[in-house]
Amino acid sequence: MTLSQEAELAAPSGPNSGSAADEAAGLRWRPGFAELGPAFHTRLRPTPLPAPYWVGRSDAVAKALGLDPAWWSSDDALAAFTGNRLLDGSDPLATVYSGHQFGVWAGQLGDGRAILLGETDGGFELQLKGAGRTPYSRMGDGRAVLRSSIREFLCSEAMHGLGIPTTRALCVTGSDAPIRRETLETAAVVTRVSPSFIRFGHFEHFAANQRDDELRALADFVIDRFYPECRATGRFGGNAYAALLEAVSERTAVLLAQWQAVGFCHGVMNTDNMSILGLTIDYGPFQFLDAYVPGHICNHSDTSGRYAFNQQPNVAYWNLFCLAQALLPLIGEQDVAVAALESYKTVFPREFESRMRAKLGLAESSESTASDRPLIEGALKLLAQEKIDYTIFWRRLSDSVASGDRQPVRDLFIDRDGIDNWLQSFAERRGATPASEAAARMRRANPKFVLRNHLGQQSIDQALQKDFSGVADLLNVLESSFEDHPGHAEFAGFPPDWASTIEISCSS
Ligand code: AMP
Ligand code: MG
Repeated sequence: MTLSQEAELAAPSGPNSGSAADEAAGLRWRPGFAELGPAFHTRLRPTPLPAPYWVGRSDAVAKALGLDPAWWSSDDALAAFTGNRLLDGSDPLATVYSGHQFGVWAGQLGDGRAILLGETDGGFELQLKGAGRTPYSRMGDGRAVLRSSIREFLCSEAMHGLGIPTTRALCVTGSDAPIRRETLETAAVVTRVSPSFIRFGHFEHFAANQRDDELRALADFVIDRFYPECRATGRFGGNAYAALLEAVSERTAVLLAQWQAVGFCHGVMNTDNMSILGLTIDYGPFQFLDAYVPGHICNHSDTSGRYAFNQQPNVAYWNLFCLAQALLPLIGEQDVAVAALESYKTVFPREFESRMRAKLGLAESSESTASDRPLIEGALKLLAQEKIDYTIFWRRLSDSVASGDRQPVRDLFIDRDGIDNWLQSFAERRGATPASEAAARMRRANPKFVLRNHLGQQSIDQALQKDFSGVADLLNVLESSFEDHPGHAEFAGFPPDWASTIEISCSS
């Protein structure tokens, strides 16, 4: 397809005259982001892809959306979620935002390859990622390749399975249409689902352009829909915008604590990749740690290590500072904005410790939480010293509490004295708590399965051969990653040597 043909297909559709429902799909639409008005978006249509096929499908998300089961299996659904047929009542658009990328102001960005189909009456926005050019595509082709789309699909649902706030993914469709990256690849579209895809960068955009009316309209929209308590609270003398900043800071702190506890590295924490709802968003060169290396950099394009695993909590705070700056015209006083940000510094360590205590199977206690800090830090120090596999350590520890057999944990370490001493302190801290109770708690906090890079890669390699069973198998396991799944023990093993040679960059 030539560029001009693509532009033609992507031309705005004109005011929508259809009903606000797709009866066959079982989807009803309600007004949403589009209501903010044309300053916030451009209306347009997805650009079709030739001969699409299913790559991955989440029945759980389909059910949450209330999709008609027969329709969900139809070619019509395949066409709709590739962007080849517009769902009745959908009025698609791409939104404008800006942001700081790698610590530098990048100016206007926007949905360069994501097209919002609309908002369902259940409160879910549906977005097609990779559905063609938009006015915000800059030099990009508006497309996403198969490998990164499979990774986003699987990781969205894996995070949900782990209980970590995230945008969801309904499906991935593929097409053999060629897409140029470093090599020639093929196209795919991920249908993402979220209450909202609004980012810090949306606020930065209107602040940078001194458009205070739009800035206020956006903040009011977010408060009314997602943070109504910000208007009721007496915090900050009734300043709802300061209360919003505080609430976002808290949600972000909780998210970062969860990422750190599970060993998740996002890889591109630019402010345009930060959700105003505190969700994990925009899966690119992410990685779940294999070996515990605190300074691990998962993004091959991140040469300075700005987004290294152990930098993430500070980067989130830096990003919140950018959001605070953007909200300043609404908040008024700089001191008030700084005070609203403070919550991050208390919530993050509190939540992190709480998550780590859960990993240790320790019940929340009324005792000073400071008392468990040495135990947590002691474990992490031992893991870092010997670069122990993070997920396997915690799961083996859970199993050892259940069985009373410490050997499988000791076997992970060369420094046996170090781990023996730590295991002794751990046993003492547990005291009289019944082992079965502690172990059950641990198995609910320490997943057996995470989406390791090599697992994702294996499913991608299969998918490239048109075998999509690997994607389905991984999805099935990752949806309930705390369970044992005895038929899939291979997904719980140590990564093979080649796993450390996988290079994932921003190019996707
Ligand atoms: P990301 O690094 O994926 O968060 O993307 C940063 C910005 O580049 C966003 O505005 C994206 O919409 C845009 N972008 C990334 N890849 C493409 C692409 N292939 N075509 C158009 N825009 C893109
Ligand atoms: Mg992004």
